[in-house]
Amino acid sequence: MELPNFNQLGFDYIKTPMRFVAEFKNGAWNEGFLSEEENLIVNESACVFQYAQTCFEGLKAYTTADGRKVCFRPDLNAARMADSCRRLMMPVFPEEKFVEAVRMTVAANRDYIPPYEIGASLYIRPFMIGTSPVLGVIPSSEFQFRVYTSPVGPYFKGGVKPLSLRISDLDRAAPRGTGHIKAGLNYAMSLYVTMDAHAKGYDENVYLDPGSRTYIEETGGANVLFVTKDGKVVTPKSDSILPSITRRSLMYVAREYLGLETEERRVGVNELEEFAECGLCGTAAVIAPVGKITYGDKEIAFPAGMTEMGPVTRKLYDTLRGIQLGTIDAPEGWIVEV
Ligand SMILES: *Cc1c(COP(=O)(O)O)cnc(C)c1O
Repeated sequence: MELPNFNQLGFDYIKTPMRFVAEFKNGAWNEGFLSEEENLIVNESACVFQYAQTCFEGLKAYTTADGRKVCFRPDLNAARMADSCRRLMMPVFPEEKFVEAVRMTVAANRDYIPPYEIGASLYIRPFMIGTSPVLGVIPSSEFQFRVYTSPVGPYFKGGVKPLSLRISDLDRAAPRGTGHIKAGLNYAMSLYVTMDAHAKGYDENVYLDPGSRTYIEETGGANVLFVTKDGKVVTPKSDSILPSITRRSLMYVAREYLGLETEERRVGVNELEEFAECGLCGTAAVIAPVGKITYGDKEIAFPAGMTEMGPVTRKLYDTLRGIQLGTIDAPEGWIVEV
């Protein structure tokens, strides 16, 4: 297969040569194997199609400054997928085997990991589906676990442009599902509200807690971080958001590398004006600055981040990127060589 032009990558599926496939039958996972076949043949009545029994993970492999090929904290993706599986009545794929499957898949597609200089990476997508045919609403009895990869470009291609977000009442009638698991069902539920936000000129929709609709949750696919005017890093505490690995890592970096105070607590919508900086965090961007959030007839601007990354956002970004790319010493276990 011909290698893609690493300089022209966006965020689109590009087939790579190998993927890992394991199957669950008669109550047990088989060993799994690497396959060249990217297409699946699955029964039309499979639980994944009818009742959305599926979950996924997302992480990246990079080339470090000194030429190593690495992944960032894959053990946390394994643990989170295990949680998603338990919630969706799917059999956990053993966590150590998950990490091994990720390493095997990346190693098998090694040539597709972009070089260090470009800022691009190899995106890794582990997922699981319920494959047995069902008509009544019951969990599948057979499953497939797969890991495939696709090279992707840098998030900040063509420079940093702070995001414009909005909070809407639309998601009161069209909620995004149950955000604390990483599953397609939440994304399906968020499409309507997100596309509406795009149509009105916003980059993302910010969800409020479904109960009281007074606290900030997260966006469709990223957690939120705030920086107070006195330099404290704050992130919303909620049981209904997805525990972002990037967010947890950034909070650690803020405390242990930058000596900043951190707080995980409920964040009220009426508090937004108090913050100096805001960012969205996730594997895709690490942290993307937010310039403003529109809420009803109010437009809340974050003065430090209107045209570029605010100073604290920038430090968080540079430090975590440095850790990932091997120019800053990483905490034990964060960087896994493939
Ligand atoms: C994947 C995801 C995130 C980001 O998590 P990371 O582990 O940092 O990539 C945040 N919110 C939702 C809903 C997600 O699906």
